[in-house]
Amino acid sequence: VARTNRTGSGSSGGELAALELVRSVLPEAPPGEVWIGDDAAFVAPSPGGLLLTVDTVVEGVHADLTLVGLDDLGWRAVSTAISDVAAMGGRPDRLLVSVAAPPETDLRVLYAGIVAAAHRHGASVVGGDLSTAPLVSVAVAVTGHIPGGGPPVLRSGARAGDSILVTGPLGGAAAGLRALRAATPSSLVDAHRRPVARLDEGTVARTSGATAMIDLSDGIASDLRRIAQASNVGVSLECVPVADGATEHDALCGGDDYELLFTARDPGPVRDAFSAAGLRVPEVLGECTSEPARILYGDSILPDCGYEHPWEIPT
Ligand SMILES: [Mg+2]
Repeated sequence: VARTNRTGSGSSGGELAALELVRSVLPEAPPGEVWIGDDAAFVAPSPGGLLLTVDTVVEGVHADLTLVGLDDLGWRAVSTAISDVAAMGGRPDRLLVSVAAPPETDLRVLYAGIVAAAHRHGASVVGGDLSTAPLVSVAVAVTGHIPGGGPPVLRSGARAGDSILVTGPLGGAAAGLRALRAATPSSLVDAHRRPVARLDEGTVARTSGATAMIDLSDGIASDLRRIAQASNVGVSLECVPVADGATEHDALCGGDDYELLFTARDPGPVRDAFSAAGLRVPEVLGECTSEPARILYGDSILPDCGYEHPWEIPT
């Protein structure tokens, strides 16, 4: 890899100091394991299969550093990566964190958010990489497992007639971002700054009859379509729960809520299981139909208004 501007002189710190800082803020490896500091981490395998996923958060794309802190960006990178484990009905175990950032970036603040989010979700950072770059970017790879073993919940298991459920009200993160931009105080700001993966909800959904599941990262209008396409069903949506302070448009098109959207043949036992686990009882939003790719909201077609990265693919 060609590296430019590698002078290594002048300012205090440098690569060794940066690595030492990162090592000092991360927890110690338990006996028998090797975490940060060697060429690779060495960990004991978890029973229950191995889930693997990676997610990247980039300054200016996923996090506006004029509105949120570096620690918030770090938190987001970890939480959103772990949310994909929740969406399989799994639990996270280990994280590899690759940070690329301008040399003057306060790594202590960035890692405070990374470590806090890892702790909040019961995962450990066991290694990663550090590089200087023109913008802050944090990639988080996660290993996870399915508690008790057994298959994960895929996007492809929904069938016509299945009910569609969601674990909580939507639009809070979009409304929180709008409040931040307008510099208006709002209780929804944290929904944007500090998203939390719905791990308990994912586990209960999986064990109580979820047939397909996805985490709502790009907005229900987009993510619901992904379940419909993977399962080859249509969707008839009757209602969408709107977070207090958000609009219906926020709820349909706003991303970053990280609630779980799932389907079930019979919502009764699922709702009972959530209640028994002390979790918010998921709302039934509608049902899957036998008209593939037809996504209805009430009587009209639901526009695909969620977030998409604007890739330009040459043809
Ligand atoms: Mg996802």
